[in-house]
Amino acid sequence: MNGLLIDYEFCTGCHSCEMACKVEHGFGEGQWGIELKQLGPREISSRKWEYKFVPVPTELCDLCADRVAEGRWPTCVHHCQAQVMEFGPVEDLVKTMDKEKMVLFVP
Ligand code: SF4
Ligand code: SF4
Repeated sequence: MNGLLIDYEFCTGCHSCEMACKVEHGFGEGQWGIELKQLGPREISSRKWEYKFVPVPTELCDLCADRVAEGRWPTCVHHCQAQVMEFGPVEDLVKTMDKEKMVLFVP
């Protein structure tokens, strides 16, 4: 079983994954295979703020089955210039989850 691992600590909020997914699948207005969520900016405590971006795959994500069948990466992974997204077998991805602010999506 494959999944997507996102190290959102270094997500820049560029929206490239969202747009690449939308174009690849021909999704219409309001349809997204992955959506960028913004946390904050909000003050957590004195001099500590939360301001993060977290890309969240939706029910429309098929892990780019057609591309993967051709031996290519999912288009969100391919277009993430920050290189914070990884695709592969869940058991391999789990082994690389060695820090906070990482999420593993298994659609
Ligand atoms: S794996 Fe493919 S379908 Fe899923 S979010 Fe990424 S681009 Fe969209
Ligand atoms: S393409 Fe990468 S850096 Fe840009 S919003 Fe998506 S996950 Fe974040």
